Amino acid sequence: MITAEQKPIEEIREMIAPYKRILVAGCGSCVAECAAGGEKETGMLASTLRMAAKMDGKDVVIQEKTLDRQCVNEFVIQLDESIDQYDAVLSLGCGAGVQAVAEMYPEIPIIPALDTEFLGETMSQGLWIENCLGCGDCMLHYFGGVCPLARCSKQLLNGPCGGSMDGICEVNPEVPCAWQTIIERLENFKALERLEEVYPPKDWSKKQGRGPRKIIREDQQR
Ligand code: SF4
Ligand code: SF4
Repeated sequence: MITAEQKPIEEIREMIAPYKRILVAGCGSCVAECAAGGEKETGMLASTLRMAAKMDGKDVVIQEKTLDRQCVNEFVIQLDESIDQYDAVLSLGCGAGVQAVAEMYPEIPIIPALDTEFLGETMSQGLWIENCLGCGDCMLHYFGGVCPLARCSKQLLNGPCGGSMDGICEVNPEVPCAWQTIIERLENFKALERLEEVYPPKDWSKKQGRGPRKIIREDQQR
């Protein structure tokens, strides 16, 4: 899923300062799972902003609505009936959600309330870890289901750097050495010989460099 964190409240207040009628728009998907932009966080942010405006004696209307998914046009369209009431939308969607709303309503400013972070996994309550860079050419089968691009601090593709101690990365003592994990997993399925092959340099053109990537599935189109 996509992970995100809420921007500092002062930064949010500065961005919305010019506006008088603001819709705080949450998203019930990834950013709800990482407790940054779901219904609960949207309600809390809207209340905080209302309270702060009241304490400053400002006459502003701040309302809230959480869409099931802010990055899917079929859900964004639910704002059609009320969008005219506002002069700005403060979005708690990820960067894709903010842009989906901006594209749908080009006449109104859409302000991001979150900093979108990474593609990650929920490891435990309150702990999210980046484990995929969205490289466009997945090779997890080769590395025993552990991504060296996301999880090795040096993004090494052909074995460990040799600096790890007790299974911990030499660059960041807070993370396990990805290559130690890869080797242990390959040993489990008796596939260590895979590491005798030389993995070619990564083709990053599948990730970036030619504008936004697209997926077109004609079988899904109506
Ligand atoms: S190989 Fe690429 S697609 Fe697969 S997990 Fe790593 S970054 Fe993600
Ligand atoms: S110690 Fe392991 S994870 Fe860290 S940079 Fe070296 S190979 Fe990569």
